Amino acid sequence: MNSKEIPYKIYLEEKDMPKEWYNLRADMKNKPAPLLNPGTKEPLTLNELSAIFCEELAKQELNDTTPYIEIPKEIRDFYKMYRPSPLVRAYCLEKKLDTPAKIYYKFEGNNTSGSHKLNSAIAQAYYAKAQGLKGVTTETGAGQWGTALSMACSYLDLDCIVYMVKCSYEQKPFRREVMRTYGAKVTPSPSMETEVGRKILQMYPDTTGSLGCAISEAVEVSIKKEGYKYVLGSVLNQVLLHQSIIGLEAKVAMDKYGIKPDTIIGCAGGGSNLGGLIAPFMGEKLRGKADYEFIAVEPASCPSFTRGVYAYDFCDTGMVTPLAKMYTLGSGFIPSAIHAGGLRYHGMSSTLSQLYADGYMKAIAVKQTEVFEAAEQFARVEGILPAPESSHAIKVAIDEALRCKETGEEKTIFFGLTGTGYFDMPAYEKFHNGEMVNQILSDEDLAKGISGLPTV
Ligand SMILES: *Cc1c(COP(=O)(O)O)cnc(C)c1O
Repeated sequence: MNSKEIPYKIYLEEKDMPKEWYNLRADMKNKPAPLLNPGTKEPLTLNELSAIFCEELAKQELNDTTPYIEIPKEIRDFYKMYRPSPLVRAYCLEKKLDTPAKIYYKFEGNNTSGSHKLNSAIAQAYYAKAQGLKGVTTETGAGQWGTALSMACSYLDLDCIVYMVKCSYEQKPFRREVMRTYGAKVTPSPSMETEVGRKILQMYPDTTGSLGCAISEAVEVSIKKEGYKYVLGSVLNQVLLHQSIIGLEAKVAMDKYGIKPDTIIGCAGGGSNLGGLIAPFMGEKLRGKADYEFIAVEPASCPSFTRGVYAYDFCDTGMVTPLAKMYTLGSGFIPSAIHAGGLRYHGMSSTLSQLYADGYMKAIAVKQTEVFEAAEQFARVEGILPAPESSHAIKVAIDEALRCKETGEEKTIFFGLTGTGYFDMPAYEKFHNGEMVNQILSDEDLAKGISGLPTV
């Protein structure tokens, strides 16, 4: 088909929307390593997992054999409010770059929470409701996950208790107020409400909190409060499963127009959007049906794939969670305060880690100033003001398109645009004022985090 016939935006019709999620693990020969109980170092059982998570979600977490899992009708109905998300042909960017490459992106920022996280938030809230729970607890850093979860919970009339890292709570009031608009109870962490919070405050009265501490508080409350469970917005297998909706929609839309991407690019924090974006394409690669190049993009200041080690580690700084085998910088590694808050995570999804270890995927680390240059270039021609996290993928897509300009290659590039950057304007301001710096991590900086890994 002539590329002129491809519209700027390809939307699916309601009848073509996926009715099942795709579980990539079913097609992996080397399965991702199981979560371990940190006490016994034995794989977690369904019973143990169900003490923390809703039972259906615990089942999804452990299921690495069923390729397709039905999306309950209530979730599909909720998806219809903001999905399908558009698949956009970046004609304007192609023209600006003067590249023979064709560029596509899938935009997940068209909902009030502003990112892809709503795709899993509604699923997790649904299963909590179906189990008869009163509510869920979680942590949030910059606030994207907490915002998405509060929207999903208010839709289903569930209680939503969010521990928000104190410095974000005070410095970033906007997402906090969106959460409260949707009825969530937002508490700055560390707080006096939990045992772990009181202990930390006694030791460090002036602390402004951390994600690790907020996780510990949210987990404590979920265990002690009758009718509540804990939910997490990335990293876990279940979250990648829910996010497969991104890749599945894209695949249907692309097949309809005979588009075949050569290179698929996504930013990687805990790996959920990337895992969802690539899922059906990676499945074809694993089954030997088609070949694609996959690129994970991470911040140079938090380089789990490119400079981490593949080992068992805690998922949180407080060391209260199960152990996951993943590319990690060590749970004690504290990333610098870069502006892509959603990418400041020490580890990586165990599914993506296994695929990367087996050579199915590449990874590139980029610096934050070059990320904002790419973000601005993109905003000026494509209209969308991208989130700093998403702009990591834009940066590598642009580099790839410019390389094609040199070589004359007419390849098709596809990237995930995970969200909007309206709440990140202080970061853009720093960039515009020339106040943004690039942290260079030394080998010694990294060795410190990695030396604290648990022995398994
Ligand atoms: C949270 C977030 C990310 C990173 O999380 P993943 O689980 O790696 O996808 C990327 N982009 C945006 C906009 C986010 O909010």
